[in-house]
Amino acid sequence: MTHSQLTPGVVPGRLPAESYSANFSDVSPPLDPHEARVEADRCYFCHDAPCIAACPTSIDIPLFIRQISTGTPDAAARTIFHQNILGGMCGRVCPTENLCEGACVRMEAEGKPVRIGARSAMPPTI
Ligand code: SF4
Repeated sequence: MTHSQLTPGVVPGRLPAESYSANFSDVSPPLDPHEARVEADRCYFCHDAPCIAACPTSIDIPLFIRQISTGTPDAAARTIFHQNILGGMCGRVCPTENLCEGACVRMEAEGKPVRIGARSAMPPTI
């Protein structure tokens, strides 16, 4: 029996470091910058964007996608955080398949929406 199994109560370091990495990693791997630009290029930038109407926080989704496609990810982050200061956290738990991605016109046309909820591997610098 190891020391951590004998220690009662709540103490840190009970698991090996690799277990913490596995347990607290994101469910979906992030998009690299090239993948993010390719995905952004799939957006039609709809005038009456149904993805915005489906978003509980009404984030201007076509705008932040456009900012990603033009290589300005910090501007995209500002667009998200301006509307929802918890955007980083919400992006990890939001059921996008039922909300923005479910409403995306690409979903209706092709059964494959723009991956609005996918994260970028490069965190914003703001
Ligand atoms: S509905 Fe889809 S294609 Fe249209 S603006 Fe939103 S993400 Fe882009």
